[in-house]
Amino acid sequence: MALGIQHLLGLYDVSRSDIELILDTADSFYEVLQREIKLVPTLRGKTIVNLFYESSTRTRISFELAEKRLSGSPINFSSTGSSVTKGETLKDTIRNIAAMKIDMVVVRHNAAGVPLFLTKCTDAIIVNAGDGFHEHPTQALLDMLTIRQHFGKLEGLKVAIIGDILHSRVARSDAWGMKTMGMNVTLCGPQTLMPLHTESLGVRITDNMGEAMEGADVVMLLRLQLERQQSGLFPSIREYRENYGLDLDKLLTLPEHTVIMHPGPINRGIELASNVADCGRSIILDQVTNGVAVRMAVLYLLGGGEPGGHEDV
Ligand code: ASP
Repeated sequence: MALGIQHLLGLYDVSRSDIELILDTADSFYEVLQREIKLVPTLRGKTIVNLFYESSTRTRISFELAEKRLSGSPINFSSTGSSVTKGETLKDTIRNIAAMKIDMVVVRHNAAGVPLFLTKCTDAIIVNAGDGFHEHPTQALLDMLTIRQHFGKLEGLKVAIIGDILHSRVARSDAWGMKTMGMNVTLCGPQTLMPLHTESLGVRITDNMGEAMEGADVVMLLRLQLERQQSGLFPSIREYRENYGLDLDKLLTLPEHTVIMHPGPINRGIELASNVADCGRSIILDQVTNGVAVRMAVLYLLGGGEPGGHEDV
């Protein structure tokens, strides 16, 4: 069975079997990444354009690494330094790049819907690397891979996602993907940092951090996205930290098996105290490691690779 999707635009309508296939494939790429020679030939001859209109550290590097580990040919595009600064439109940019015969586009943009728009401008396969407040599907997939590696399962686990939900594409992709996988998701943040119509996410919502964390197997903190908001959404950083930041005292109220996650970059001392970010219960760097395996799996499966077909290489 191949994937039921042609592009990865979001997790909203991705089936449980597709998510399972991506995670299982990522598990075997994880094994490849433990070898001395971390290279497989599966994307040989394919050109992938990494089209980044917004800053990125982890996502950008791990996509590029994944493409290189699969023997593909990555081309990196940043809007700064390109003809975007001369006023070239997104549509012209993509049509010109596509005219050079490319196979895949990994796109990050500050406007929701750009990945979908690109599917209408080119025949290349499109992978969403984060579009505005909308979705960040590969982040949610790597989050689920990390949780599944740690607990051996996803079904029935309780996850509390706490922070700036309004501006977080990670929260949306996690909520949809984790719900599909039978996880029990709670989103928590101040009411001013909650999106309207949260009922459409189909998960539990609260503005009380203690309530959200009760019995949680996973507590995921989100970054306060100061670059996306105008002032006045919360009284002060100090108050935000007190109500929604995770420090050592609050960590000690959690069950002993509970793990701490964060998609990065961390605002140390705001949503997460430094000693919690770096403590033994934090699996934040495992998330980063798994980003490469998950992105290899997505590119491999969308690029026409057979499930399990890379295992003998
Ligand atoms: N790196 C994640 C994203 O691009 C989370 C964040 O920026 O806070 O959405």
